[in-house]
Amino acid sequence: MHEPAVPHLHAEDPEIAGMVEAEARRQYEKLRLIASENYVSPAVLEAAGSVLTNKYSEGYEGRRYYEGQQVIDPLEALAVRRAQELFGAEHANVQPYSGSPANLAVYLAFLEPGDPVMGLSLPMGGHLTHGWSVSATGKWFRPVRYDVRADTGRVDMDQVRDLALKERPKVIWCGGTAIPRTIDFPAFAEIARETGAVLAADIAHIAGLIAGGAHPSPVGHADVITTTTHKTLRGPRGAMIMSTAEHAKAVDKAVFPGLQGGPHNQTTAAIAVALREAAQPGFAAYARQVVANAVVLAAALRDRGYDLVSGGTDNHLILIDLTKKGIGGKPAAQALDRAGIELNYNAVPFDTRKPFDPSGLRVGTAAITTRGLGEELMPQVAAWMDEVVQAAAKGDESVVERVAAQIRELLASYPMPGWTATP
Ligand SMILES: *Cc1c(COP(=O)(O)O)cnc(C)c1O
Repeated sequence: MHEPAVPHLHAEDPEIAGMVEAEARRQYEKLRLIASENYVSPAVLEAAGSVLTNKYSEGYEGRRYYEGQQVIDPLEALAVRRAQELFGAEHANVQPYSGSPANLAVYLAFLEPGDPVMGLSLPMGGHLTHGWSVSATGKWFRPVRYDVRADTGRVDMDQVRDLALKERPKVIWCGGTAIPRTIDFPAFAEIARETGAVLAADIAHIAGLIAGGAHPSPVGHADVITTTTHKTLRGPRGAMIMSTAEHAKAVDKAVFPGLQGGPHNQTTAAIAVALREAAQPGFAAYARQVVANAVVLAAALRDRGYDLVSGGTDNHLILIDLTKKGIGGKPAAQALDRAGIELNYNAVPFDTRKPFDPSGLRVGTAAITTRGLGEELMPQVAAWMDEVVQAAAKGDESVVERVAAQIRELLASYPMPGWTATP
């Protein structure tokens, strides 16, 4: 049963209530390895489901365009303060609706249409909003793309410097969606300084690891930092922008009135709750365990003959290259999902296959670590993955049901925040 319970929803709209329960059960029964997902706490769920959703609050603390901000002003101020304290940032804006709008606000704050912007190429692990061609950021600005090195699978910092000197981007993005290795913020900062660019660190994937001390922080190196709040940070779907005091005004103006209207106050509250949770000592232990699990899972996959981009991982994320396994990423991901292992197909650097059926699988340990799974179980996870992928490569569906049942049985011992097993 969903927790908090949804009795009014069951009474008013059983169809939607049924879907909420079904999704909760699905999340309970599956090994969730999507690197950008997690399980939030019931406290975060309660804040996100509160009457704060009823309130309009365009503007910022003390400067709103609607009356009745007696509660919202101190609430948003508290969320901002918690973000500043957790990350050590001089300025924080907690209003962006999600990661993509947060990144768009960076363009509005620092670039004019047509200006050059540099980011990691999407198929190499970057994000759409870092100037990819189908994104507004690639259409309205002039993208300059850097890559990872073919031999190491790691960002080519020499190329970053050469390109930045040649193209003089106004903004350099670092960070991405499929980067299994530590991001060298000081090296990016040096290049940005040398070339007069604003350094924007997009820490959407690793924000929780940074908060928990399991990945170096961009604070002190990047001029502006964007992050989603719903990945390793384990908050509601939302985003934040942090910056130096120097850029505070430009960032705030870009978010509102530049791009958005009223902030989602229920999300602001849930972000504040998640930030408080992330400041507890237990969260640092969580972040360390996320990485420890990924490292052991990567080693177990390597032992089973899987090629990993960059050879392994430093963080929560593993990128598997299936080229030698005789199966594409999409059919492998679909078979794994049927077997109770939820992940996504993903391009690998220099992929020779198409984006809709690339050669890779992306795996993350943030959600299963929240469930309480530890290193000792990672070889078993790798064994299940290997069994299903090998069978799928031969068109054999017979293992799928058995593996799904074994996973359901294992996960019954690992409680899920947001769900209570009913007797
Ligand atoms: C997830 C992600 C985003 C976008 O977040 P949405 O909330 O899906 O818009 C932006 N940048 C990076 C690096 C991400 O991983």
